[in-house]
Amino acid sequence: MRPISQSMAKKKLKQGAAAHLAYTVADLSREFPNDDACLEYIKEQRWPNSVAMCEKCNIERKHYRVAGRKAYACNRCGNHIYPLKGTLFARSATSLQTWFYVMYVMASTGSRITAKRIQRETGVTYKTAWRTLRQLRQVIVNEQLRPAHSTKEIDVPNDLNVPQEHGLSTALQRESDITTGMPA
Ligand SMILES: [Zn+2]
Repeated sequence: MRPISQSMAKKKLKQGAAAHLAYTVADLSREFPNDDACLEYIKEQRWPNSVAMCEKCNIERKHYRVAGRKAYACNRCGNHIYPLKGTLFARSATSLQTWFYVMYVMASTGSRITAKRIQRETGVTYKTAWRTLRQLRQVIVNEQLRPAHSTKEIDVPNDLNVPQEHGLSTALQRESDITTGMPA
């Protein structure tokens, strides 16, 4: 992703698009400077403090990041867990940083964003931008259609404590919530 300057964020605030948000594009760039930071964020939403159930040990254990892989390993037996598993990011070739940026802009503009704009601001292809938007919109639609008191699965990251101003929570749902699936 291209770096987004302070002045650009300020200009956006002046235009009023994100005026209600205290969290700016500059904040986003600072908090998520790369894909590793995004992965770490998703991992913390699913498994706070890196403590997760290890299937091998059959007990909750601390996990550490496996270098070069989107995985974390049990600090006792080394069994891997995957924070992206079951989310719409899992089989996506789009960088997590791009996903995060699109989710941020969607949250700050009330979903009024075009694929053209994503293409321009992130440098991804129009096809990727269009697909990313479509999938996120689908997740949002599904979220809105869901009955308020429906039974929810345990371990759905969306139910965890994601700060609303990030606008990232809806995208952390299980992939099964997306009816359209992931195009090849
Ligand atoms: Zn283990």
